[in-house]
Amino acid sequence: MPRAADKIPAPRPASIVEPDPAFVRAGGILTIDLGAIVANWRLLAQEAGAAECSAVMKADAYGLGADRVAPALAAAGCRTFFVAHLDEGIALRRILPASARIAVLHGPMPGTQAEFPRHNLLPVLNSVAQVKDYARLAAGMGRRLPAILQSDTGMARLGLARGELDALVESGGLAGLDLVLHMSHLACADDPENPANAAQRQDFITASARLPGVPGSLAASSGIFLGPDYHFDLVRPGAALYGIAPQKDAPNPLRLAVRLQGRVVQLREVPAATAVGYGHTAHTADRTQLATIGIGYADGFMRSLSNRGAGWFRGVRLPIVGRVSMDSVILDVSALPQGALQAGDLVDFIGPEQDLDALARDAGTIGYEILTSLGARYPRRHLGL
Ligand SMILES: *Cc1c(COP(=O)(O)O)cnc(C)c1O
Repeated sequence: MPRAADKIPAPRPASIVEPDPAFVRAGGILTIDLGAIVANWRLLAQEAGAAECSAVMKADAYGLGADRVAPALAAAGCRTFFVAHLDEGIALRRILPASARIAVLHGPMPGTQAEFPRHNLLPVLNSVAQVKDYARLAAGMGRRLPAILQSDTGMARLGLARGELDALVESGGLAGLDLVLHMSHLACADDPENPANAAQRQDFITASARLPGVPGSLAASSGIFLGPDYHFDLVRPGAALYGIAPQKDAPNPLRLAVRLQGRVVQLREVPAATAVGYGHTAHTADRTQLATIGIGYADGFMRSLSNRGAGWFRGVRLPIVGRVSMDSVILDVSALPQGALQAGDLVDFIGPEQDLDALARDAGTIGYEILTSLGARYPRRHLGL
């Protein structure tokens, strides 16, 4: 009779026992930790004290899947969600409880005003034209419509200038609207020393005085860490939910919520003075072990990482050699023991050894751009709570 152990097949690499074929076939894999996102939201809510903590879900929850992230946050107690565009709001409305507030940061494009009450969405009204058009819709419907008003306090991007708010208040132009929030956005909040923060806060307080009884909101992720003076009634974190550091030069209190792995397609050994990749921008100094990984700039793995960034395998840094191609990138894996890395194995690009901010620094950008560029070809695996 064979012993039980004889029947147990030898352990095989995780990439081969993976039950979902999409994960075996793909050149790269994204793993999104919903538990980390919820833990980050709770930490931000605690930091915000008495202010309500909302969640910003624009750009498909910064590329990580709003259909999975938003319900997890709603279940954790988040009541207000922000997106950028009307269509993002309509999509989110379908998956969130009717009690959840969904605000659309860009407000109504001309001709789309009626979509907001139809889909139970809150527009953020940013300009005099948006206010007037929405007030006209309210008058036509014969009821006050809920809306959010944005003031520009020093970014010259979206929102009413001071004089415009004054004129609207004095002319009764806001009468048809039920303003549920007055908001503004900080330009330099990741730098606590920047005097623009206090100037914008003061401007926000002055503008808010024109709207008595309307709750206020100024802080996004970084603004939360400027302290209670910046919290007002509601905070609006996005990036921090996903683990991006909220302040430039301070330790990051948040958990990384994403792991990006690329798969080894081919391994080769080359002699010294071998030219590597497009344009021959790199040449090997010695005999070198190279691994070609199946992710490239078409996946949002930025070309600016050419000859700069690195992947990681079992705690070993593997530098990028040559240019990043559309679908692949070449690593110098000589630092690994012979045979440690094989075709089909997964190398980390965002993970325990290299967080989003580190990869972003090598790419010459910010974690936000790395996240929102993560490509459509990656299968996304969401870890539960
Ligand atoms: C994107 C955005 C946020 C979220 O910003 P983070 O820095 O990602 O927290 C908040 N408010 C507004 C108006 C935004 O555009």
